[in-house]
Amino acid sequence: MAVYPVEVARQADERSVRMTWSDDHVGEYPFAYLRGWCPCAECQGHGGEKRYIHAQNTDLDRISVVGNYALQLHWGDGHETGIYSYQYLRGMCPCDSCQ
Ligand SMILES: [Zn+2]
Ligand SMILES: [Zn+2]
Repeated sequence: MAVYPVEVARQADERSVRMTWSDDHVGEYPFAYLRGWCPCAECQGHGGEKRYIHAQNTDLDRISVVGNYALQLHWGDGHETGIYSYQYLRGMCPCDSCQ
């Protein structure tokens, strides 16, 4: 079975999201990093390489759960079309052992 986050903590002071996974792995995802890799069509266009988006506003207002496979991130500028699958999130984990 694929891993999934058992705990997702939005840390306003650190401007990061701490995700604890079902295999006990823990990753700290800075807001700007998550915003930069927003997977939505508006940010990524269609096809080609994944692009890093330099958004002016990287305030993460809210996180909601989509089905049992993804998180939706709601940004301070109203952008909220990014649906981050658990697989995608785990694949982009910025910790030393993943990168
Ligand atoms: Zn986007
Ligand atoms: Zn990691």
